Amino acid sequence: MKTFTLPPLPYDMKALEPFISENTLSFHYGKHHKAYVDKLNELKPGTPFEDAGLEDIIRKADGALYNQAAQVWNHTFYWSCMKPAGGAPTGVLAEAIQEKWGSFEAFQAEFTKAAAGLFGSGWVWLAHKKGKLEIIAAPNAGNPIRDGKEPLLVLDVWEHAYYLDKQNRRPDYIADFWKLVDWDAVSERYLV
Ligand code: MN
Repeated sequence: MKTFTLPPLPYDMKALEPFISENTLSFHYGKHHKAYVDKLNELKPGTPFEDAGLEDIIRKADGALYNQAAQVWNHTFYWSCMKPAGGAPTGVLAEAIQEKWGSFEAFQAEFTKAAAGLFGSGWVWLAHKKGKLEIIAAPNAGNPIRDGKEPLLVLDVWEHAYYLDKQNRRPDYIADFWKLVDWDAVSERYLV
C-alpha cells in the first residue's frame, strides 16, 4: 500500500517573513498540512484508492478521501507558488494575462476580489485548459484538476493561513501574498 509523506517545505520557516511569519508557517505546514497527510493515510486502507496516486484520488474520489487528498496537494502547490522575493509574470504567460485581462494589474485586481469575496474556507486558483486562463474561487478543498484544468497559481484563503499574523484581515494577507508569488515558477508551468 502506498503511504504519502509530507513533502519538505521548499524554503526555511523564516523565508517568507515579514509577510508570512515563521509562527504561521510552523503551524500551517507543520500541523495543518501534516494532519491532512496523516488523515489521508488513515482513510485510504480498504478503499479502491489504496495504491492510487494523489492526483488520481483528486480526480475520482469523493467525500473525506477527496478532501484530504486535495488538501495535501493544494498545500504542497501553495508552498511552491511563493518565494522570498516575488516578481512578475514573464514570457507566454505575461502575454496571455495581458490578452485576457488587459493588464497584469487588472488580473491582480480580479484575483484579489475573488480571494476577498470567497465566503468561508477555500482556494483561489489561476488555472488553464489548453492555454485558456481562468480565475477559479473554489470553496473548501476545491482543486481544478478535478475538472481537467491545469493549476498555475493558488492562494489558500482558509483562516488558518493568515489568522496568526493578520487575525481577520484577509485583504492584508492577500496584499502580502502578491509580494511573495514566485512568478518564474508560475510562468514556467504555463509553458508545459
Ligand atoms: Mn491551509
